[in-house]
Amino acid sequence: MLKDQDRIFTNLYGMHDRSLKGAMKRGHWNGTAEIIKRGRDTIIEQVKASGLRGRGGAGFPTGLKWSFMPKQSDGRPSYLVVNADESEPGTCKDREIMRHDPHTLIEGCLIASFAMGANTCYIYIRGEYIREREALQAAIDECYDAGLLGRNAAKSGWDFDLYLHHGAGAYICGEETALLESLEGKKGMPRMKPPFPAGSGLYGCPTTVNNVESIAVVPTILRRGADWFASFGRPNNTGTKLFGISGHVMKPCVVEEAMSIPLKELLERHCGGVRGGWDNIKAVIPGGSSVPLLTKEQCDDAIMDFDWLREQRSGLGTAAVIVMDKSTDVIKAIWRLSKFYKHESCGQCTPCREGTGWMMRVMDRLVRGEAEIEEIDMLLSVTKQVEGHTICALGDAAAWPIQGLIRAFRDEIEDRIKARRTGRISAVAAE
Ligand code: SF4
Repeated sequence: MLKDQDRIFTNLYGMHDRSLKGAMKRGHWNGTAEIIKRGRDTIIEQVKASGLRGRGGAGFPTGLKWSFMPKQSDGRPSYLVVNADESEPGTCKDREIMRHDPHTLIEGCLIASFAMGANTCYIYIRGEYIREREALQAAIDECYDAGLLGRNAAKSGWDFDLYLHHGAGAYICGEETALLESLEGKKGMPRMKPPFPAGSGLYGCPTTVNNVESIAVVPTILRRGADWFASFGRPNNTGTKLFGISGHVMKPCVVEEAMSIPLKELLERHCGGVRGGWDNIKAVIPGGSSVPLLTKEQCDDAIMDFDWLREQRSGLGTAAVIVMDKSTDVIKAIWRLSKFYKHESCGQCTPCREGTGWMMRVMDRLVRGEAEIEEIDMLLSVTKQVEGHTICALGDAAAWPIQGLIRAFRDEIEDRIKARRTGRISAVAAE
């Protein structure tokens, strides 16, 4: 179990003073100027050595991503943009950072921006996060007043401005290029890639987009050392991680733990276990709504990290763990996700625009058992035609949960169709 002294987020539950004074007491903003004076290359090397992988879902190595930014400016400014548009169903970890421990993020923004040669950083926060925006803005204002932001930020010799931008509540703006479009004042629609943001991002300038947690852990990594961070978890899956556990556990929570913790330990130690006991698990979505679910058998051995879950054809995603016990109508649960993705599709590419609606409508009939058995394979084939054939990952996100459902619960889908035919069940309305 992660020891208290190894926790990066020391005020995750808002039990302590979240102001600058309180944050400093807990060790934040300690020696920031000295860290910056190590220089850009050293900071990037240390972040690489820590093994930190992006905490927003894709798990791309953070230090490597930073190294794609130009070393010398060609006249254009560079930007860091922090993706705080946390909208994936089940995911609520970044909000705890922003409302209770905002200084971890702000200090991280300064250090990371310096490492990428950016004098300006934007945090794009989800529209629905009103209180989080207020808390974060108050913390930013405090930092300006204290000289930690602005000219010669934190006496580091680096001029740095940080702006908080409020989104309007569209899930697709969490996709990095849609986020940049939205930040520029346009409709939040993903861009074709290439060019990638590091070459041409915000206002056509070199830009890196990072998740809140990825940035907020950086100051502590640099203070305590890359080796310290790398000592948690398995090789290639290092560090501490925020897990958000919801659904059928006794005590849903957000908790910082060591990467690669077994799922069973995570649920039993921090969440009071599964409702009705471990054997009452029906399925678990381990990383936010877009990743395929795990069956009970997979849960028995599940290790919560990027590589193990990928080997199971699922993913760590945002580490938002959604637990479903045996009372769950799992077909209906996945139908609900299909409805979500259909609603949030921006509509600019055909496989996603048409496919998400098509998938949702078939799922709707599967919930009620009003389908032919052959349609299960037809649905699977449609998910394959959507997956990998769209501009952004929303198409994949809509396809994967259905693929996971059919892989794990085909029998249950078939049983429902058969039962419906023989009149053995009453319809379960999909609404
Ligand atoms: Fe828009 Fe969907 Fe295409 Fe993404 S995959 S760009 S959300 S239509």
